[in-house]
Amino acid sequence: MSTLGPASLPPGGHVALVGAGPGDPGLLTRRGHDLLLHADVVLYDRLVDTRLLDIPYKPACRRVYVGKELPGRASRDAQQRRINATMVREARRGKRVVRLKGGDPFIFGRGGEEAAVLAAAKIRFEVVPGVTAALGAAATTGIPFTHRGVAQEVTFATAHGAKGGTPPPWSALGKLKGTIVFYMGTYTLGLAAKKLVAAGRRASTPVAVVERATTVRQRVVTGTLATIAARAEAAAIHPPSLVIVGDAVGLRGALDWFERRPLFGRSILVTRPEEDDPGSQQLAELGAEVTRLPGLEFRPASDTKQLDRALRSLSRFDWVVFTSPRGVQYTDERVEKLGLDARAFGSARCAAIGWRTSLILGAYLKVRADLVPKDERAEGLAEALRKRGVRGKRVLLLRADEGRDVLPKLLRKAGARVSDVVAYEHAVPKPDRAVVARLAAGEFHAAQVTSGEIAATLKGWLGRRPWPERTKLVTIGPVTSAAVREIGWPVAREAKEPGKLDEATIEALEG
Ligand code: SAH
Repeated sequence: MSTLGPASLPPGGHVALVGAGPGDPGLLTRRGHDLLLHADVVLYDRLVDTRLLDIPYKPACRRVYVGKELPGRASRDAQQRRINATMVREARRGKRVVRLKGGDPFIFGRGGEEAAVLAAAKIRFEVVPGVTAALGAAATTGIPFTHRGVAQEVTFATAHGAKGGTPPPWSALGKLKGTIVFYMGTYTLGLAAKKLVAAGRRASTPVAVVERATTVRQRVVTGTLATIAARAEAAAIHPPSLVIVGDAVGLRGALDWFERRPLFGRSILVTRPEEDDPGSQQLAELGAEVTRLPGLEFRPASDTKQLDRALRSLSRFDWVVFTSPRGVQYTDERVEKLGLDARAFGSARCAAIGWRTSLILGAYLKVRADLVPKDERAEGLAEALRKRGVRGKRVLLLRADEGRDVLPKLLRKAGARVSDVVAYEHAVPKPDRAVVARLAAGEFHAAQVTSGEIAATLKGWLGRRPWPERTKLVTIGPVTSAAVREIGWPVAREAKEPGKLDEATIEALEG
């Protein structure tokens, strides 16, 4: 019998309660991101921005919406019990479960109750903090919650007493001098303001209401305890929103960097699959809203014989080449299925196209890339290998079924003995119909199209509807532009080089 570790540890099963942050996916912690990369099951709810789900998940990862506001569903308590039961069941099956919660799990999110259930069921769990909505809002509204000479303390409260529970301690809150942030206060704003004034807070105290803080839809309404309820109502502020009370609100004028960014309020449709898309970050940094409608998806190779044979004899090769992060992930799945691990590579060296591919290679297969050429095209890799003397060497390419033929051709020309093996296949995804409708209605200021294959798929989804006049179509280069024109759609901009796609998009949005 093994004596390693406490006997009560279930084999492998684990639940992480992960704070997803306030809305902007970039505010997820590094630990949260790592847990999502390796999750078997992700349970998420409404406040979690769905773009978080664009992480390069394990292909078999199940993502389940467990929001408590599905219409016609059971009561909130019954829903919560169902979530608890799902976490316990999946963990007992040995799964790695991530329970993704808006903001921080332990601030107004019932995370404590979920942790208690896991503890009672003796499930291994961890809690990963998140940026709570209030802190996100402080940053993106430009309201420092504490500030010398203005506010010496900050209080997080809720203006919404739990049903049948105790109401907020208004008289104590009204005596505070610093900043108070109310969660879940949208619909009780008038009452809260009155109670605070009645308890002693100045009626002229500045107040801000922040809707969808940290996202491109952020809206801020300001006023005083006397005026804020009417102003918020006039502006039709809806949840999720926070109420910030205190003199610190007055500092915002000079500090509202977030809404002043050049592309704030502009919306862009990105149609390439997420793993090929490191670039949208720049657009988001400039304030644009990036919406994804992948026009391409991937699935495991339908026939894995060739792949399995190659993987079982990896050490025969001098070079193993990965051309995309997805290729690494599908290879990793097969490697695991075959009961192999990093040792299978033996003395074979690894090359990767793109730093993301090399990153994923380290994260999944636990192998460091020996070569990541600066020029991130097939041509760049072929040239780098040629320089290292690839004549007579055995090179294994692990790629998609639809890959360009440039790489094998160039390598063969350089004298390499190339095995070109399909690690995964291209497929047409199920479209998000709501996003397709928004596209057809001309809601996006620009849309990126990154291959002829994707253009054809979009065409199929739009059907007889024309390309929306208001949406500027940006392509990744001349080959794609030709395919787009063939379809009969106008090209507004074309990237000068593949890496310059976002530059072209910014130009399209500005002019
Ligand atoms: N655990 C979460 C809070 C859940 S309670 C956290 O730490 O942030 C839900 C409340 O959080 C909402 O009613 C709203 O008051 C607030 N909230 C969440 N996300 C928000 C956002 N992006 N902008 C403004 N308020 C938000």
